[in-house]
Amino acid sequence: MYRADSLKAEEFMDDGEILDTLEYAHRNKNNVGLIDEILAKARKRKGLSHREAMVLLDCEIPEKIQEIYELAEQIKKDFYGNRIVMFAPLYLSNYCVNGCLYCPYHLKNKHISRKKLTQEEIRREVIALQDMGHKRLAIEAGEDPVNNPIEYILESIQTIYSIKHKNGAIRRVNVNIAATTVENYKKLADAGIGTYILFQETYHKQTYETLHPTGPKHDYAYHTEAMDRAMEGGIDDVGIGVLFGLEKYRYEFVGLLMHAEHLEAVHGVGPHTISVPRVRKADDIDPDAFDNGIDDDTFAKIVACIRISVPYTGMIISTRESQKCRERLLHLGVSQISGGSRTSVGGYEKEELPEENSAQFDVSDTRTLDQVVQWLMELGYIPSFCTACYRMGRTGDRFMSLCKSGEIQNCCHPNALLTLQEYLQDYASTKTREIGEKLIEEEMKKIPKEKVRETAMKYLELITHQGQRDFRF
Ligand code: SF4
Ligand code: SF4
Repeated sequence: MYRADSLKAEEFMDDGEILDTLEYAHRNKNNVGLIDEILAKARKRKGLSHREAMVLLDCEIPEKIQEIYELAEQIKKDFYGNRIVMFAPLYLSNYCVNGCLYCPYHLKNKHISRKKLTQEEIRREVIALQDMGHKRLAIEAGEDPVNNPIEYILESIQTIYSIKHKNGAIRRVNVNIAATTVENYKKLADAGIGTYILFQETYHKQTYETLHPTGPKHDYAYHTEAMDRAMEGGIDDVGIGVLFGLEKYRYEFVGLLMHAEHLEAVHGVGPHTISVPRVRKADDIDPDAFDNGIDDDTFAKIVACIRISVPYTGMIISTRESQKCRERLLHLGVSQISGGSRTSVGGYEKEELPEENSAQFDVSDTRTLDQVVQWLMELGYIPSFCTACYRMGRTGDRFMSLCKSGEIQNCCHPNALLTLQEYLQDYASTKTREIGEKLIEEEMKKIPKEKVRETAMKYLELITHQGQRDFRF
């Protein structure tokens, strides 16, 4: 039986409720009256239930689909302005004991190079990332209690935070590791992580079990209930996601929103971020082997419907997607992207030889961070390296209540400009700096509160002419 506030996966991710929702949405996909009602509710910017959202996703009426896109764009602008937060993944180890059929790190893959970074290698990777201009990382590691125990992850986090190279610093470390115990989540919280990210991959239990035939990840309930344990362990910000292509997208979409509703119902705070990866080609993985791949139009509609259903949740897209696809999705709701990413272990300090081959997937967008920053600014976006909330303790429900009150905008905009100025001073090419300085000048004028504007101007001056760093609102 479906219960959003249950702690049991089989109840809060009830298969019957998902199937009923899909049937309800199918029946109502051309019900103009209902669709208008849902759109009117969405315009209030308080979000939608999974049933309402699914009706919009199924809607086939061209004018209504257009309205969905326009509303998603508007909500994106209202909540996130033209800022895009930048981050990079850092692969620590690709040792893994699981048997995931869609990932080349699965245990049986004998021709991929297995690598695990030493603390000294991590130091060199982090310096390379700092020299690109990154301030926010997502660390990734396979599940392997012998090679990648929690102590290794904790030590690595400590190493990353400790490195101060020139003006560089990693100010927020998000963590993407396998589902674990409350005790281990407590340790991660104590280590000062930002968001704990764990993709569900698929919410469909039977498909999940087929795709994870061996290893601890096979346990659907343990994996699906991981975010509850993470929150119990004191991690305020969690990031969820599915791997589109594994199961039918309609099922996954409802599952994602039910998961978000569940976290809100139990912990009073929904997910901090939602990621929307699609299956990519990788060593011994052919995306065509999965029948449920989605085209770019469906993908865009999913992003738009997520945006209007959970306006307060950041949405992340990685370099799995091409420049063209990323450009389209930025308008519709994506608020965070990676740039200059390497998906191999140790790939930042030196590029891998082809035979080394330790990458998790092939990157589509292969541009450097500087090129991505420049491209974003040419599109009218402000690339932001801001990590202020986390560092000022604005996490979990404190972050959400600020966000819901609309006040967060008074911090994000100036913070984005100040961190962009740091980037321009320390890392940008001449052309990027020129474009950026003009953009900052224009955007500074748009800070509504005079006092904030004056303070931001003063900080900007100190960054540019006094070499000072790390100001934040
Ligand atoms: S998806 Fe994660 S758990 Fe599965 S094989 Fe890859 S690294 Fe291991
Ligand atoms: S002020 Fe907070 S919400 Fe805004 S960009 Fe910075 S970290 Fe994100």
